[in-house]
Amino acid sequence: MSPWPLNVLLDRDGTVVEERHYLCDPKQVRLTPGAGPALAALARAGCRLFLVTNQSGLGRGCFSQDQYQAVQDRLAEMLRPFGAVFTATAMCPHAPDADCACRKPLPGLWEELRRCHGLLPEQTIMIGDKAADVLFAKACGLAAAVLVLTGHGRKAALDMGLPELHPEWLELPASPDRPDVLAKDLAAAGRWILSPA
Ligand SMILES: [Mg+2]
Ligand SMILES: [Zn+2]
Repeated sequence: MSPWPLNVLLDRDGTVVEERHYLCDPKQVRLTPGAGPALAALARAGCRLFLVTNQSGLGRGCFSQDQYQAVQDRLAEMLRPFGAVFTATAMCPHAPDADCACRKPLPGLWEELRRCHGLLPEQTIMIGDKAADVLFAKACGLAAAVLVLTGHGRKAALDMGLPELHPEWLELPASPDRPDVLAKDLAAAGRWILSPA
């Protein structure tokens, strides 16, 4: 991928950490396979890493802001030994029926990051495990949308009628509502980003 430097927006649940229904217990935080080294490699290559996450469990009253923060702190602690740090996290706390402007796939969280960190869409890619992540990337005009097959990714790929993945990533034809790249997991997505153009 070029041009550098690249900003990498990452969905949290199902992408960076294993999917758990309304994850709110720091003891249940598990990184997806290879996530630590993958994020470290991207950071070493000069990428800035941002978390972009819908946390409707807050708006639905399933967990508290303190519980959310405890999970975030645990995630940062697990990534620290790898030398991977998120520059910032953009989070939507609203339930789907709240009609907010920041729940992915709406571009509110991107507007926030762009404003605060001077991001350019052509230097930014999004990695996530749901159609909402892909559509978010498209709505924001980002350079690429990567769908990983961890978390809800396999179901999302089936629902979108995407081809079988072989071997670990696949570039797809440009489309307004499908990912540009299909990747086995975050580690494979990272290797795609760092692969020679
Ligand atoms: Mg997700
Ligand atoms: Zn919101």
